[in-house]
Formats: sequence, structure tokens, C-alpha cells
Amino acid sequence: MYVKFFRCFRCGETYLPKDVVSLPVMRCQKCGSAIDAEYDYDSIRKEILSDSFRRDAPTHWKYWPFLPVSDLSSLVTLGEGATPLLTQPLLTESTRASKLYIKYEAQNPTGSFKDRGSSLEITKTLQFGKNKVVVASTGNMGASIAAYAAFTGIECVVFVPDIAAHAKIAQIRAHGADVQVIDGDYSVAIKAAEDYVRTHSDSFLTGDYPWRCEGTKTVGFEILDQLYWKVPDYVIAPIGNGTLLWSLFEAFREMVCVGITESIPRIAGVQAENCNPVVKAWESSAPTIEPVADPETIATAIACGNPIDGLAAFKAIQDSNGIGITVNDSEILDARDTLARHGILVEPSGAVSYAGACKVRDTLAGKIVVCIATGHGLKDMYGWF
Ligand SMILES: *Cc1c(COP(=O)(O)O)cnc(C)c1O
Repeated sequence: MYVKFFRCFRCGETYLPKDVVSLPVMRCQKCGSAIDAEYDYDSIRKEILSDSFRRDAPTHWKYWPFLPVSDLSSLVTLGEGATPLLTQPLLTESTRASKLYIKYEAQNPTGSFKDRGSSLEITKTLQFGKNKVVVASTGNMGASIAAYAAFTGIECVVFVPDIAAHAKIAQIRAHGADVQVIDGDYSVAIKAAEDYVRTHSDSFLTGDYPWRCEGTKTVGFEILDQLYWKVPDYVIAPIGNGTLLWSLFEAFREMVCVGITESIPRIAGVQAENCNPVVKAWESSAPTIEPVADPETIATAIACGNPIDGLAAFKAIQDSNGIGITVNDSEILDARDTLARHGILVEPSGAVSYAGACKVRDTLAGKIVVCIATGHGLKDMYGWF
């Protein structure tokens, strides 16, 4: 594997992989902030710079040199990734883009992009010889980890806040996981999961920690690959914990590092009105995330008041020369209904990027735009019963 070291987002402290991979909670040991993997791109360039890398069909594990794995025979996969990049003339028109693409992540095995990170995290769990995984989740992460754990035959404990959609809790239970419904918001669930792993040494913490971000990068690689390595003008995605946004930035940056592309798209991050600490930070150009207590929005998958990768998401917007967008619940539901009426079924959080695109349509005029539709409509049929 080509990981050289990890670096803290806030204080810049660096760590050798051997010093952090066995920590119960993979965070900066000095300031507690999220840490990020840095690779040896010269070696990767030698490994992948071939015509076949450009031509091979996009699939999640095709990009393994950019992931922290070495033993390819032990990868855990349920067939994640390789999701369609859809384009529909009426939807394109509604945003004024020259071409609008919807990256339909609902088509992953458990119905959300979380499966990309889960396949890597469960691979790591086995590598470290653990037989139990723990995760805090607003629903989709738990459903994803529960499925991969069940597939591999290991135990799974999921802490969910009481706002999680019923169908998601049912999905987690269906896979046989131990569901602990927390009286409190998502931040309280995270604390419960982190406390659990510190006191149960046989368990492995999954969630928005460094491995997940690495696995999630493949959505960014696939977008470029599916556009035949032509870089779009904008890529728009929702921000919950901010992991998806940072993963996109890393994926686009890494393709430039190894010489496959020459530039990166502008990254637009979208949050819900009552839970937009990253967009607020971006609006005031200050890299300080002011947490929101008990956030309320119809988009429950992004109701993260104190985003773990908030600083990283802020950096992804700023360093890509991107934008932050806030949408309210009625804009989110309108966007969701419009997508559904054009054949694309998503949950409210899955429509947030398209809602954001509609909101900034003047900025998008004539541009090539990709919106990430993050989760399946069947998971949360709010208002359709
Ligand atoms: C997890 C999730 C998000 C937010 O992703 P982050 O990486 O937490 O920013 C958005 N939409 C859906 C459907 C999700 O499951």
C-alpha cells in the first residue's frame, strides 16, 4: 500500500501509519481533529500510468492503488460502485447547465454511497483481526456497515439518533445488527460509539474516520472516468459530516498528481437551512465550524450539527474555488419530487445537491455539472404514503 503518512486537518501534526492504525479512535492525538492519508504518488504513477487504466470500465476496486490496501485477495465486496452517471434533457434545462449529470449512488448494494467506504472499512476490520464493528449513524452508514458485517460474519453494533428514518432502522435490524437508539442527536450517538470502542478492545470503530474517506474517493474517480477523463466545471454534493466532499476533492487532486487530468472541478457543498455550519464558515471565510445543536431538517442523513470532517469540507470548497449553498426543506422536497418525476428516485438528502444546483442556476449557465444523488428514495418515502 502506498500511504506515506497521516496529517491533521487542524494542527498539521503528522503520523506514520504504524503509529495511528491501531488506535481505537483514529484522530489527531494532539488536538482531536480528523486526520488524512497522504500517498506516495510517484510509486502510484508507475503502477497505473497505462492506457488500460484509462480504458478499463469504472468499478470501485479498479482504483486500488489509491486505497490503503495491499492484499487484493482479501478485499470484502458486495459489488459497490460502478453506479450510473445519468443525464436527462429536462433536468439539464432546469439548471441552465450545458449538461447536467446525476451520479446515481442509490444504485449501491445498500442504497447509498456509504458502501464505498464500508467495503474498505470491513476489509480493514478483518485485516486487524477484529470480530465486531461499531458505528454511529443517522441510518445509511449503519445499514451499510450492518450489511457488510453480516456478509463477512462479524458482529455489528449501531448507535442511531431518534430522528433516523424508520425504514433505515429496519434495514439495519434486518441484517441482524444490535441497534441502540440514542436519546439525543447524531453527535451524542458518535460519543456513544467512541466510548464503546474504548472499552471493548475486540471491536473496530467504523464511521467518518480516515479509512472511510479513502474508500469514498472512488465516487470522484468514477465521475472523471465516466466522462472519459474530461473534467466537469462543477461537482455538487451534500455535506453531512463532510466526508463525501473531502473525498471528492482528494480524488480530483490525486488524478492531477498522477498526471491523468490537468485540473480539478469546482466543488459545491450544499447544506440544509437549519444545519449549515460549513456553509456559514465558508460565507464568512473563517475556517471555524460553529456547531449547531439538535439540527432539524427533512434531510436526516445530513443532520450533522458538528460535522467530523467539517474543516475538511471547508477546505474542499475553498481550495477548489467552489461554493457553499444552503437550501431549505421545501426546496429539498421540490427537488426530490422533480427528480422522481423524471425517473430518478432519491431520499430527501439524495436530492440536496440537485436542489442546490437549481438554486445557483445562474452560476451554472453553460457549464458541465455533476450532482451526486447520494441515497435511495425507498429508504425514506416521506410524504409519499
Ligand atoms: C451520509 C450521507 C450524506 C452525507 O455525507 P457526508 O459524508 O456525511 O458528508 C448525504 N446523503 C446521504 C443519503 C447520506 O447517506
